[in-house]
Amino acid sequence: MPSPFDQLLPHYDAVVIGAGLGGMTAANNLAKFGRKVLLLEHHYQLGGLATFFKRPGGHIFDISLHGFPHGMIKSTRRYWSKDISDRIHQLKDVRFINPDFEVRTTFDREDFTRILIEQFKLPAATVEAFFAHLRAMNYYDHDQRTTRELFEEFFPGRSDVQRLLLEPIAYANGSTLEDPAITFGIVFSNFMSKGVFIFQGGTDLMINLMTAEMKANGVDIRRNVLVEKVLVERDAQGTPRVQGVRLRGTRLGEEATVSCGVVVSNANIKDTVLKITGPEAFTPAFVAEAQAVRVNTSSCQVYMGVREGDSIPMMGDLVFTSSAQPFSSRELVDFHTTSRTYSVYYPDTRPQTKVPHHAIVTSINQRWEDWANLSEADYQANKQRVIEESFQGLERFIPDIRRKVDFVEAATPRTVQRYVRHVGGTSFGTKFEGLKVSMRLPEQVGGLYHAGSVGIIMSGWLGTINYGVIVSAKADAYLRDPHAGPLGDAKASEGL
Ligand SMILES: Cc1cc2nc3c(=O)[nH]c(=O)nc-3n(C[C@H](O)[C@H](O)[C@H](O)COP(=O)(O)OP(=O)(O)OC[C@H]3O[C@@H](n4cnc5c(N)ncnc54)[C@H](O)[C@@H]3O)c2cc1C
Repeated sequence: MPSPFDQLLPHYDAVVIGAGLGGMTAANNLAKFGRKVLLLEHHYQLGGLATFFKRPGGHIFDISLHGFPHGMIKSTRRYWSKDISDRIHQLKDVRFINPDFEVRTTFDREDFTRILIEQFKLPAATVEAFFAHLRAMNYYDHDQRTTRELFEEFFPGRSDVQRLLLEPIAYANGSTLEDPAITFGIVFSNFMSKGVFIFQGGTDLMINLMTAEMKANGVDIRRNVLVEKVLVERDAQGTPRVQGVRLRGTRLGEEATVSCGVVVSNANIKDTVLKITGPEAFTPAFVAEAQAVRVNTSSCQVYMGVREGDSIPMMGDLVFTSSAQPFSSRELVDFHTTSRTYSVYYPDTRPQTKVPHHAIVTSINQRWEDWANLSEADYQANKQRVIEESFQGLERFIPDIRRKVDFVEAATPRTVQRYVRHVGGTSFGTKFEGLKVSMRLPEQVGGLYHAGSVGIIMSGWLGTINYGVIVSAKADAYLRDPHAGPLGDAKASEGL
């Protein structure tokens, strides 16, 4: 078996740690700028959380292909390829079923306006003012208001309206009523612009196309390689600067050191600062700031494969269900939550496959703390419980679902942690404060950058791709002139 260390160059312009969407986009962009790029991924598969897995019986499951905003079309066309961009298509049937309401929607501004006015009996002027307010929200306003306060201003006492607005975004980026309103506002507005989209062909095809694109642009891609350490040295002026990385093979344990001009880390920002680079490279105040960053919640998922030759009726593309009343951010992540989303994959998800297949993926937001320390027996029992609850919820739509399904498996926060190594198995990066730490990294260590889920805003497929673009431009500028001052917050965040 060839080693991933074969023919490694001693020096690269840029080393990218991690092949999630943020890391791959940064690597691809830097290569397009003409830089010699090494992309390192500890897993055998690229994509990070934007990934898939196959199981016997022709089953293939997508982990995070549930929905992203229309902006992905522009971002993938500009920074990846027309081929990728052309395969993005809209999900038209988004459903909400809970004790407060039942709604079927295309999840765009026009349809939501109609629903809020006709079904929720809100004055048209209030709905209009709310949307206008969201569109005007700006990261640089430094508005301290929470999402709860925002909702109370426009829809006082209407927990049903709050549920309709926040529940889908909580699944998309883990945001809660207590997070800064901007984290809800930006992501919700992105979706409202045109609705919810997915990549037709499945995550496997998208990652294959991205991999081919990176290779064509000259990115040196190595899998099964863990970056253990970012090497930092002080220059003659005493400024810490990136020198290289220390690597270890995850299969054979080989070791190597590679020198480089810049490092872009796609690992979690806390891991990047506190473990992979190490506190000694930063000022104590910055380390304290990084330590204080809260990570977002994690997820459980249940993957169900429908037996080949069998099918399921149309029940919607994305179905948000819950028995909780009233809606609360706390219930949504409770160990025994009744809130779950069903993503239904009909055969047109992968039109290229010869044998049509149906699959259903249930997603549940969960806390790491509830799963981390379970005994093996309790862990297995709770996985089974989550599977059973998922079946029970589905029986409402497909009474004979158990008979149709011939493969079922569950993932938990522990699975997420094992797969991508993120602290706390976080599905959506960090809370808002992580964005500032991520953006200020190069002010601490010359040539050190972070591109990946942070601050709720720079999370999800679109957020991380866009962040990868922004960061690659900064890294390229540093390679041109390492002694120019690091780009400030405003410059760095153009396009947020
Ligand atoms: C269950 C679930 C459902 C989701 N659904 C959606 C959705 O419908 N729509 C949406 O837009 N988003 C969704 N998301 C979020 C989205 O998948 C992520 O925000 C996004 O994919 C994260 O990209 P990233 O660039 O931050 O990197 P990640 O995907 O987190 O990847 C980081 C990579 O770095 C690698 N790595 C870490 N440390 C090292 C190291 N030391 N050495 C080498 N490699 C390392 C990891 O293995 C990983 O491949 C979902 C997430 C989850 C978990």
